[in-house]
Amino acid sequence: MILSAGLEEIKGVGPKTAEALQKRGFRTIKDLLYYFPRSYEDYQSQTNIADIKPGRVILRGKIRNLRNLHTRRRNFVITQGEIYDQTGAVRVVWYNQPYRIKNFDESTTYYFTGQYDFKYNRYQITAPSVVTADEIEQKIEGFQPIYVAKGSLNSAWFKKLFEKLQPLLPQIPDLLPLEHAPSYLFQGARRQALTKIHFPKQPEDVEQAKQYLGYEELFELILASQLNRQENQKLKAEPLAFDLNLTKQFLSSLPFTLTDAQKSAAWEILQDLTKTTPMNRLLQGDVGSGKTIVAALAAFQAIKQGAQVAILAPTAILASQHAENLERLLTPFGIRTALLIGATKQKDPLKQQIKDGEIDLIVGTHAILTDDTQFSRLALCIIDEQHRFGVAQRQKLLEKVALNSHPSTVDGQRITAPHFLAMTATPIPRSLQLTIFGDLDVSLIQQMPKGRQPIITKIISETNTRELLYPEIKKHLEAGEQVYWICRLIEQDEDEPLEKDQHTVKEEIKRLAKIFPGYKLAILHGKMKPQEKDQVMNDFKEHRIDILVSTTVVEVGVDVPNATQIVIMNADRFGLAQAHQLRGRVGRGQKASQCFLITTGDNPPTTRLRELEKSNNGFYLAEVDLKLRGPGEVYGAMQHGELDLRIASLADTEMIKAARAQALNFASDPQNMLKYKELSQSIQKYQQLTTLN
Ligand code: ADP
Ligand code: MG
Repeated sequence: MILSAGLEEIKGVGPKTAEALQKRGFRTIKDLLYYFPRSYEDYQSQTNIADIKPGRVILRGKIRNLRNLHTRRRNFVITQGEIYDQTGAVRVVWYNQPYRIKNFDESTTYYFTGQYDFKYNRYQITAPSVVTADEIEQKIEGFQPIYVAKGSLNSAWFKKLFEKLQPLLPQIPDLLPLEHAPSYLFQGARRQALTKIHFPKQPEDVEQAKQYLGYEELFELILASQLNRQENQKLKAEPLAFDLNLTKQFLSSLPFTLTDAQKSAAWEILQDLTKTTPMNRLLQGDVGSGKTIVAALAAFQAIKQGAQVAILAPTAILASQHAENLERLLTPFGIRTALLIGATKQKDPLKQQIKDGEIDLIVGTHAILTDDTQFSRLALCIIDEQHRFGVAQRQKLLEKVALNSHPSTVDGQRITAPHFLAMTATPIPRSLQLTIFGDLDVSLIQQMPKGRQPIITKIISETNTRELLYPEIKKHLEAGEQVYWICRLIEQDEDEPLEKDQHTVKEEIKRLAKIFPGYKLAILHGKMKPQEKDQVMNDFKEHRIDILVSTTVVEVGVDVPNATQIVIMNADRFGLAQAHQLRGRVGRGQKASQCFLITTGDNPPTTRLRELEKSNNGFYLAEVDLKLRGPGEVYGAMQHGELDLRIASLADTEMIKAARAQALNFASDPQNMLKYKELSQSIQKYQQLTTLN
């Protein structure tokens, strides 16, 4: 069987079905086979209502007292009733599905699968899915895959489709080499895994399948980044010599001395720049650890060799902040800097100057990437908060080097790439470093500059804010300090009654205006126009605003040293890494700072919040986060493009070690990529995602 064959090749799949699938991104048989169930329902594990505990439950019982209630809010219907069995009864609720009522028969026994929780002051099961007991007990086996619906194609539809695929399964060829393989990678392992993931007989089948499939995914990912590394080594960059005396002069102009961590990171970077192999390095350091000065050192070295440097930031305000700081640091050394953002006036003359080599350092946003921005001798690109940029944008920077108006050569070869330095304050756990970022060299700044006051973090229940939070905030406002006040949501969503206890910026600002009269408040959120956001952020920086009520858009890199207090409402709903990033908005000056994590209602603090209270170390917290939430979520929070690891466990260090060893071995022989055709095709998607060049 050819996995790359189109869907019409499957017996029993007509052109209509094939088209429906194509519309939703399935093009080949392989795409379908790798569409894994989201979960499995074990209908044999149903609970007696008397023994029910909060969480996901399966109940077998009948339903009674069903009725539709129309709420005060327009067009909103609550369907409620009672599920009962021999042991007890439980309240059940559906929102805005009035038609539900018609589908039930009071004498029929059903299986109800859903979430059982404490809501609106009582326990209830919310919007369970329903199947008649007959259907389960006669037709299908107890252990069933559940697929995520795609538009009108629901789980049952996919299940039927997979039955048509079943006869093909025994023909699936192996994908990975078997040399140096761990025990779960053997001849036929792939075939077996794909069969077991779609047609499991028992939970162990799924576990076994996931082990192989997780390995396959990791292997591909690591191999892709390894091949990228090899590709990068074939490119040529302009070597930028290190000048000890000049560097010393620059360092002595600073009002502080570098921390040891800054020194060693800078050293690694400055060494890389002297080579003709393009640097491809990630500089990681917690917020406030002082990455900017390290970047400035690199820029300084490049410019003193006559080259140009571009620094890219994700927002106009960050770019402006960088431009200001760098100008102050570098102008005394005769370096000409400029800011290029969307709002820059007189872009054309500036672009001409850049092209003519009259500007040495260009700081900006995406505006730098437009085709009409050309350089004279671009040799180093620095990207701040690199996870906010996509591969396409980095590719653009690469192309710019090819357009340099002073093309030159090294070792008789044309210069084809800039040196790349990416910076991030999102700590990346070691396992991610070895897999997703495997093609990058990494420098760490794991130390804060001297004299920083650690941020004090306190968990406060919402019911205690009057006594414990407001007086404290008032005290600091009176001392002339500023406050970030974070809410998850912008406004209440009409159709989402479940978000009842959630604070929204639009409501919160009204509430706070009463609690803190006489202070200036403003809101900031993602639905505002970029210029509006910049305006508000600037006003806050210039202290025209005392309390900034904001969603998480303030997360990245903004520096307001006078803001010493941050309050995070509904803190239990934030990811660890994200809350830590938010906390990093304060503690940037000499004054002591505080972070208040406000738990919703009477909810007890989660493990996440307690970890956050205990530790200020982003690297430690990133590891904890990965353990608590799993890679999918941590990954999502990092906004890393389209990469979507379906199975692989990035917390499984043993598996990563095995996959890495095997992939490195495999990559060392170029012949292998010709021999393993499907593999070499399959990793192309990862190659594009992981590469920086
Ligand atoms: P981040 O790593 O978050 O980008 P920055 O580079 O913005 O951090 O640095 C934060 C602040 O610390 C800046 O005001 C910077 O001038 C200051 N700083 C950087 N390095 C040192 C140091 N070694 N000693 C004292 N202050 C420093
Ligand atoms: Mg920064």
